[in-house]
Amino acid sequence: SDIERLYIHESVENVVPPEDFLAAFDDLEIPNELVGDGETYEDGDAVATYVPRPEFLDASWIHCIRAGHDAFDTRDYENRGVPLTNTSGIHGATVGELAIGYMLSLSRLVHVYRDHQNEDDWYSPEYERPFTVENEQLCVVGLGTLGTGIAKRADALGMDVVGVRRRQEAVPGVPEVYPPDKLGDAIAEARFVALTVPHTPETESMISDGEFETMRDDAYLINVGRGPVVDEAALVEALRSENIAGAALDVFEEEPLPAESPLWDFEDVIISPHKGSATNRYHLDIAEVVKENIEKIKHGESLTNRVA
Ligand code: NAD
Repeated sequence: SDIERLYIHESVENVVPPEDFLAAFDDLEIPNELVGDGETYEDGDAVATYVPRPEFLDASWIHCIRAGHDAFDTRDYENRGVPLTNTSGIHGATVGELAIGYMLSLSRLVHVYRDHQNEDDWYSPEYERPFTVENEQLCVVGLGTLGTGIAKRADALGMDVVGVRRRQEAVPGVPEVYPPDKLGDAIAEARFVALTVPHTPETESMISDGEFETMRDDAYLINVGRGPVVDEAALVEALRSENIAGAALDVFEEEPLPAESPLWDFEDVIISPHKGSATNRYHLDIAEVVKENIEKIKHGESLTNRVA
């Protein structure tokens, strides 16, 4: 049935200013308003939200404003016949640029100079330390929106890009694609390994002791997918034992990253607080996806980004 009302659940405040997000729907013909918990929903209602809530199962359609919908139990939605959509497809540039920023910092030591700047220290690193990303190998694990967004930018910088993908099709800028069961071969030669897969039973702890053994000892791990894709204790151990050189992490097993995590204290670990998609126009990008699907429902077309 048609969407008659659009509700914006207040949890969107985790990533966008709720009032700005709401205003992005001003041009819609249907009423739209901000709601909190404990609301009741009925046929014709749509909810855009960051978190799942049991009462959403009474609505006609739920849109998760995150790319990863791993907080939602898709079986609930399938059982009730309520379509669930997510917001993948819009983070190629935002997360792609962050990943490139990480690699350029790790190679040219921007993060190290900033640490020394905090001490007013005119610092000279060891001669061996800085390098160019040009001609270095990057392995991108998961070639969806994020993965291809990183691969294309890395290719433009002259990097040698390989990837891991379930479908064995070539991807522009990624001449060599390995299947998931050849993960070890894919990461063995890489200077950077970037994780861009969702958190699923198959990807959980995909990177653990064995993978850190396989990686080069001058390699850097980049995780912009989801925290549980990496066995974090194994990562800390790999950093301590210098099995790898460093990491750049936007996502963690527990968020916020607990103050007692050893990850905060490695010089060559860059930590960003799950801000891969954070830009000043994120609310507009998400609203586009929601509006596109409102139109699709109106015209009886299948939904974009339907995950249940
Ligand atoms: P997407 O659906 O476009 O891409 C995910 C890709 O991973 C798909 O190509 C899929 O086939 C692949 N994949 C899944 N399981 C795999 C496996 N076992 N082996 C190899 N490939 C596998 O989604 P996206 O927009 O690229 O986002 C990917 C994930 O990144 C999201 O699910 C979310 O968890 C995370 N994410 C994080 C941020 C951030 O702020 N750091 C922002 C957006 C997305």
